[in-house]
Amino acid sequence: MKWIKQFLTRVKELELYRQTITYEPVTSTEVMVDGRKYLMLASNNYLGLTHHPAVQAAAIEALRKHGTGSGGARLTTGTHPLFEELEKRLAEFKGTEAALIFNTGYMANVGVISALADKEDVIFSDEINHASIIDGCRLSKARTFVYRHADTHHLQELLANTPCQGQRFIISDGVFSMDGDIAPLDKITKLAEAYAAIVIVDDAHATGVIGPGGKGTAAYFGLDSRAMVQIGTLSKALGAEGGFVAGSHELIDFLKNKARSFIFSTALSPASIAAALAALKELSSQPGMAQKLRDNAAFMRTSLVTAGLPVVEGDTPIIALMVGEAELALKMTAALKEHGIIVSAIRPPTVPQGTSRLRLTVAAGHDQAELAAAAEKIILTAYQLGIIAR
Ligand SMILES: *Cc1c(COP(=O)(O)O)cnc(C)c1O
Repeated sequence: MKWIKQFLTRVKELELYRQTITYEPVTSTEVMVDGRKYLMLASNNYLGLTHHPAVQAAAIEALRKHGTGSGGARLTTGTHPLFEELEKRLAEFKGTEAALIFNTGYMANVGVISALADKEDVIFSDEINHASIIDGCRLSKARTFVYRHADTHHLQELLANTPCQGQRFIISDGVFSMDGDIAPLDKITKLAEAYAAIVIVDDAHATGVIGPGGKGTAAYFGLDSRAMVQIGTLSKALGAEGGFVAGSHELIDFLKNKARSFIFSTALSPASIAAALAALKELSSQPGMAQKLRDNAAFMRTSLVTAGLPVVEGDTPIIALMVGEAELALKMTAALKEHGIIVSAIRPPTVPQGTSRLRLTVAAGHDQAELAAAAEKIILTAYQLGIIAR
């Protein structure tokens, strides 16, 4: 197994070595490491629902009443009634007939794409789509064409020039996980109509974040959500775990029979589903919840852009600060950690060579004083490392 050692040596040399880091969450925006408290600017827990009293209480109650695990897959061991309640709520939330829960957003993408698309079909996929979309495309065996990021002209060119015997699909993140920009879903759906393609949108970072009431990308553009397949996750803004797909009754029925990551995996625990259900109820009863998040995101963005930092343009709580080299991204996160701030360094292969970045995420639970102080430290560190000139 010499190649394992060689691989590890190589990634270390390239500053691309990855290791898990242990943080103990103390609130939805702070973590503890070695007795020191840090401000968390790297979590997708956008609404702080992980620590919401009603969400915690629902999970605890389900745990006591129904036990820790589900005991098996939903088609064989049986489906807990909480799943049906959550699926009904998710469908209402997304404006569709039905929904289906998967164990993770990753499994939803892999399961849905590989169930829907086949050898004779063609997929058009944004070049910076999430890894789980890429894996779903590969598993489907459909021919996949990658269009330049958010470039609908390129997408149209590919649609026009690619003969297809089967079905065409266009797949995109709704909010791009590493750049934080929003897909041009209005233009994409127009092209889909013109070329009889099915749109699959992955709203992992859009659910609870963009659109009225946090309903996601289709709602953000005011599009008819029945015309597409919408994927989402329960693990980010909804503060629980699991993934889901929303669509027609027929689509959901089809997926129950065909999506292997749904069929062959043990269902999530009742406590996870109860938490997601309570979180969704909170979000639905307080549609303004996402507003504080937007205000905080705008505040942080403006602070960094005003100081001249190379921030990717966007309108979401994901703020990408382009630094270029992987080593520089690592230096920056290490320096910020010294200042008591946790941000992520995003490096290849997650993003293309030379586009390593700092990815910071803002949450509704941050207060603007702490964000202002963090912005000041980020700007100072960027000066010190030569990312911006004095
Ligand atoms: C996080 C993410 C996923 C995966 O969701 P999990 O629930 O974490 O497995 C899928 N797609 C996108 C765009 C994501 O950002």
